[in-house]
Amino acid sequence: MHRLSLMVWKILSWGSWMRRSLMRTLRSLVLCHWRSKPSFCELNILNMPELPEVETVVRILNAKIRGAVIRDAWLDWPKMIRDPYNPRHNFLDKRAVANFKKNIKGKKILGLRRVGKNVLFDFAGGWTMLVHQKMTGHFLVGKWAVRKKNVLAISPEQMKTDKWNGYIRAVFYLGDPPNQRSGETGGRMLAFSDLRRFGKMILGPKEVIEELPDIKALGPDALARDLTSKRFGKILRTQNRAIKTALMDPKVIAGVGNIYSDEALWRVGVHPERRANSLASWEHESLHKELRVILREAIKKRGTTVGDFRDPDGMAGDYAKSRRVYGFVGRACERCGELIERKKVNSRSAHYCPCCQKR
Ligand SMILES: [Zn+2]
Repeated sequence: MHRLSLMVWKILSWGSWMRRSLMRTLRSLVLCHWRSKPSFCELNILNMPELPEVETVVRILNAKIRGAVIRDAWLDWPKMIRDPYNPRHNFLDKRAVANFKKNIKGKKILGLRRVGKNVLFDFAGGWTMLVHQKMTGHFLVGKWAVRKKNVLAISPEQMKTDKWNGYIRAVFYLGDPPNQRSGETGGRMLAFSDLRRFGKMILGPKEVIEELPDIKALGPDALARDLTSKRFGKILRTQNRAIKTALMDPKVIAGVGNIYSDEALWRVGVHPERRANSLASWEHESLHKELRVILREAIKKRGTTVGDFRDPDGMAGDYAKSRRVYGFVGRACERCGELIERKKVNSRSAHYCPCCQKR
């Protein structure tokens, strides 16, 4: 009898386990389809925001939300909030999250600025918020309806139709918060979409934020007025490593990443693996000039989108059409017809023409 009841119990529990796992699979399939998650191939074409993309974000947000007051904040991924007094602690810090939510309320946005690849919000009362968008973070201005963990885009249209705008991790209410009872959608909102969830936000007194290593450890900005070609050359002559690696190190020059370092090196005809200190003075000079031309051109075109980057209007940047090498493996070089190659340089991929960019 005992054995029989044990068997019945086993069959029943196995049945419920089967039912549960079947439901789980069905649910994930439906959710996957509904949220139209990017495929694995699409995840390989993410482009991290660099100087022109961050500058685009700052310029558009300054035009759209300067003077607005943050009434409240909703967070789906509290881990992105860091303690300004202990910024290296990158685990969920409940105290820092509670402080963030309390302190952000009622803050008036005086303006935004870019420092390297960081977005800095300056608030009235001497407060500042540092945001690093990391791999896939981007700000959006529009309207969303938040129901517990689900966020539904209301307007504008591209927030609903473009899946890259659909990974909302934070919403800042700039007008009246929505009233769920009356169905009022509330005022404008600033949202932060971040597929990979690597972005981080640190809110604190201005003097504390400006002392953070995110800002203090940065080298001169690639577009800084005082970064003359002479100073640029002097900095690179101290770097006994691949020019591509030196250019992408924010402690050496701030703001340059994978795309613009590849494009600048192609224009000057310098192999990405050449030692930075082995370049001739004229090469340093023309690299300085071309890099700044490319960055300014990319800002005019609202950055590069080869995957996920979107500006605060939810639109892709246009510089992708002006690229010559980045992401063009196997395509003929515009200058000599040789095929573009890709190579790992200190674990980052460099795109170059083996004919125009000799070692
Ligand atoms: Zn070539």
